Amino acid sequence: MTAGISEQRLRIAGIIPESIVDGPGIRLTVFVQGCPHRCPHCHNPETHNPEGGYFITLSEILEMIEENPILDGVTFSGGEPFMHAKTLTPLAREIKKRGYHLTIYSGYTYEQILKKAEIEPAFSELLSFADLLVDGPFLFEKRTLDARFKGSENQRLIDVPKTLASGNVVLAY
Ligand code: SF4
Repeated sequence: MTAGISEQRLRIAGIIPESIVDGPGIRLTVFVQGCPHRCPHCHNPETHNPEGGYFITLSEILEMIEENPILDGVTFSGGEPFMHAKTLTPLAREIKKRGYHLTIYSGYTYEQILKKAEIEPAFSELLSFADLLVDGPFLFEKRTLDARFKGSENQRLIDVPKTLASGNVVLAY
């Protein structure tokens, strides 16, 4: 067990131990289970059912990260990571403590995340640990195969630290 993190369980659809398409560098990507957005032609429909997937503990995920010396970062994808904001926040904190880059994908826009944070503070807590937010739903009519790290043109690659510091959305790329 990794010291300093709980045995709290997270419901996930799966983990890709080394990905080069979910953010800069080589990353471990966690696909959480459960998504309320139901984007038409979603590439991961098996992640929608909030009762599906399987459980893994936060310490098990952190051990997978720490065991791989070539990782640059970690990505939370899904599914909808902000559905698991309370559970993911302590994991995000430990990931950042260890110096990894953290990317979060969300079907919510940045503005919707801030609005939801007014009644669910875990939304803003989780967001505060992200380096990069890929925001908004997948829109089939705006799909692209050319854009870096995103599936449709409406999605933005947001530099979260600069955005939170300035109060205005700052794009990372
Ligand atoms: S937010 Fe992502 S996982 Fe959820 S339906 Fe849309 S594309 Fe699929």
